[in-house]
Amino acid sequence: MKLRQRIKSMNDNTVAFIGAGNMARCIIGGMVNTGYPAANIIAANPSRPKLDALAADFGIVVTQDNLLAVQKADVIVLSVKPQLMGEVCRQLIAGVPDISEKLFVTVAAGLPVSRYEEWLGPVRLMRTMPNSPSLVGLGVTGIFASRCSNYEKSFVDSMFSATGKTVWLDQENQINDITAVTGSAPAYFFYFMQAMAQKAELLGFSPDEAHQMVVQTALGAATMATQSSLSFADLRAQVTSKGGTTHEAIETMRNAGLELMVADAMQAAIRRAEEMA
Ligand code: NAD
Repeated sequence: MKLRQRIKSMNDNTVAFIGAGNMARCIIGGMVNTGYPAANIIAANPSRPKLDALAADFGIVVTQDNLLAVQKADVIVLSVKPQLMGEVCRQLIAGVPDISEKLFVTVAAGLPVSRYEEWLGPVRLMRTMPNSPSLVGLGVTGIFASRCSNYEKSFVDSMFSATGKTVWLDQENQINDITAVTGSAPAYFFYFMQAMAQKAELLGFSPDEAHQMVVQTALGAATMATQSSLSFADLRAQVTSKGGTTHEAIETMRNAGLELMVADAMQAAIRRAEEMA
């Protein structure tokens, strides 16, 4: 198979993105910024403006023709909305004779490998779950591989490492788990930050002051956690003296059932992901 023969230089592979929206843009940006040759990246999208912006910003090849992009590519990244995926796959299988030679990577939420196999046949496929901080190079992407070689896995690992960290999953249903842990999670933090900013405003700080203080504190706490080998519990204990103000606040959260509430919320996300599959 074409991709597997190119062991020597990963950068030789041509990668086509079908759907040139937000997620495609952030993966393409990560790849180009970490040295992947722009000439080996193609983006296909029905409308011109996103393509023109990608060509101007990253120097990649762009086209409005999905089939042309796929014919030229070794790796196909399916980056359209889940509800359009069936239509796109059917178009590709009808128009590209050597489709089984290609490696497929999907970023779509919810759709299981079995659904792609119905559309495309028994292709080599990686199902991924990136999260939105990939847009700023601080993402986490869960990856499950079906029928793929180690070479193909390391190729896809390097693609997504350009947007943050990768986590390899042994079982496909772990995609639902990682959706709860990282995929949906930026919104949990935003919600917590929103609640803190609301209270700061009630205390008399301006909306801008409240926003800045909460963002800076979240960034500071996350950076401390990044730079420390301590567990979250130990980091928290370090800044919580018994009988002090932080202790009082944490006990209020504990007594209100924060840990159970977070676990329930994550379980609800998993349940919803299972329903959507
Ligand atoms: P988006 O709407 O920004 O991008 C989708 C693009 O597909 C659009 O530019 C649209 O014009 C294009 N498109 C529509 N029909 C097409 C067709 N027939 N052929 C080719 N292109 C077509 O959406 P997005 O946020 O980039 O999401 C894309 C995928 O990424 C989704 O499946 C989503 O589940 C997944 N995803 C997104 C995020 C995120 O944070 N944005 C996170 C995880 C997964």
